[in-house]
Amino acid sequence: MIPESFIQELLARVDIVDVIERYVPLKKGGANYQACCPFHTEKTPSFSVSPSKQFYHCFGCGAHGSALGFLMQYSGLGFIEAVEDLAHSVGMQVPRVSERTQTERAKKAPLTELMLRAARFYKDQLKVSPKAIDYLKGRGLTGEVAARFGLGYAPDDWQGLQSVFPDYNDPALVECGLVIENDQGRRYDRFRDRIMFPIQDQRGNVIGFGGRVIGQGEPKYLNSPETPLFEKGRELYGLSQARRAIHDSDTVIVVEGYMDVVGLAQLGVENVVASLGTATTGHNAQRLLRQANRVVFCFDRDSAGDRAARRAMENSLEFLEDGKRVDILQMPGNQDPDEYIREQGKAAFDNLVTSGTTPLSEFLIREVRKPAGESLDKQFNLATAEGRAQLIREAKPLLQRIAAPVLRTQVVKVVASLAELSQAEAEAQCGLKPLARGRASAPPQRRTIQISQLKTLLRAVLRRPERAARLPLDQIDTESAEGAALHVIANAIDHGELAAGNMGLVIEHFRGSAHEGLIGTLTAELAIDDGDESEEEIVFEDTLERLRNAELAGRINALNSRARAGTLTAAEQADLTGLLAAKAGRMAK
Ligand SMILES: [Zn+2]
Repeated sequence: MIPESFIQELLARVDIVDVIERYVPLKKGGANYQACCPFHTEKTPSFSVSPSKQFYHCFGCGAHGSALGFLMQYSGLGFIEAVEDLAHSVGMQVPRVSERTQTERAKKAPLTELMLRAARFYKDQLKVSPKAIDYLKGRGLTGEVAARFGLGYAPDDWQGLQSVFPDYNDPALVECGLVIENDQGRRYDRFRDRIMFPIQDQRGNVIGFGGRVIGQGEPKYLNSPETPLFEKGRELYGLSQARRAIHDSDTVIVVEGYMDVVGLAQLGVENVVASLGTATTGHNAQRLLRQANRVVFCFDRDSAGDRAARRAMENSLEFLEDGKRVDILQMPGNQDPDEYIREQGKAAFDNLVTSGTTPLSEFLIREVRKPAGESLDKQFNLATAEGRAQLIREAKPLLQRIAAPVLRTQVVKVVASLAELSQAEAEAQCGLKPLARGRASAPPQRRTIQISQLKTLLRAVLRRPERAARLPLDQIDTESAEGAALHVIANAIDHGELAAGNMGLVIEHFRGSAHEGLIGTLTAELAIDDGDESEEEIVFEDTLERLRNAELAGRINALNSRARAGTLTAAEQADLTGLLAAKAGRMAK
């Protein structure tokens, strides 16, 4: 883990304007900077970056956050990767990073240079190869789309790359997978006579290639091997080109081939990426669910496609949250998505995505009715006790992976009814821990503070975290998210973990916590509302005053009722007198 203090120090060091400017050209307008939003399509700028708050906000689509949040949202980086990226940009060392990662990073730089040079070479070769151009035209691709994906052509030549790499014996060429060395020490180009699809990482570096044969030949697709740059399970083809469409549609379609990505984009379906290699890993599922609320995995309808679909399901279960959706789309006929859309058109493909998919939960139920890896006609005989027991055995490991509580309950319900068990029995037999009980069963609490008041306090504290020191914490219970968040901030201020300062710091303090959503919403509201500072202080102080009065009134009421019951002690009588005097004093103010 990265220490919180480091994140705070890092955010204090970087300027969000510099960070965003690396990706989006910003224009100064008043105190803030403006740009056309990188997260939705627009003609007039509604994306605003505040240097004083260290916060960005889009008035169009509502995107907002700190410098770290921007990197994560824009590049799809994970939190740790974003921290590393940001730290690197200001020359800070992330304390957690091991030495191995450091040397790996240092090693990567020259390799990406080589890959870029190769990509340019392949691109130039495409321009002078009528055969390759004809092939792409035959697949319905225009020059525009080819350029957008940086498509190229590897010539039919054993040492074609020698013309860009005069030092063809450079070991780095083998290391990055461009050149192969055989047992006799002879070297030759890995990719020959193939259409080349450069694979980029989140920062836009070329880290590998996919090569497709022109016409017939084996293998149909040839990928770069695993290299220090290219870890197949982690990368997705086409993500940088698809980013905007994914954001606009809140959906990402995952296909199996490069050609599918490019072919679908050609016909206007742009929110598409391809998994590299056959396995859709958990890492990919997690990354995709971070960028869109719906992920559609698209597979051929054959046994390989079925196995891939099953793996995608298994790997997605633990990253599902309630409100997120993963669907499986099994292509009709024997067509891959590229062939399908060229034959049937965009509307037909859109229709498949809208209404021809199977929800992950339904797919799971289908899978547990038969042994893993078997076809659907091998279903268990649920009329027998043995068949029902087999069903539970199949379901157990899958159900245990479902992270979303509401979804899990629903799926268990279906499994339970198939197995003729009660919900509780099914949960017990599958070894599921009971889900956290909702608030409903908690004893009702007399709330003296209203949520709206807590919100007011929280807003004021978010703007100036140091105000948390003035909060009457013993009056604020942690039942509500607002109350709990106030305690967290006060505690952080108390321990010096949160300096008086910008909202970006507060947001990062809450990242990954239960209150992340609430804090995000409130800070976004604050970013829009550039309220008067002094007025805000008045509102804050006024709310504190009301709380003090309410607390006083509560204590007086309690003592008064004891007095009426005749159980008031002498000490309490003195208290009551004092409190009444205090109340009178307040009223007089
Ligand atoms: Zn926007």
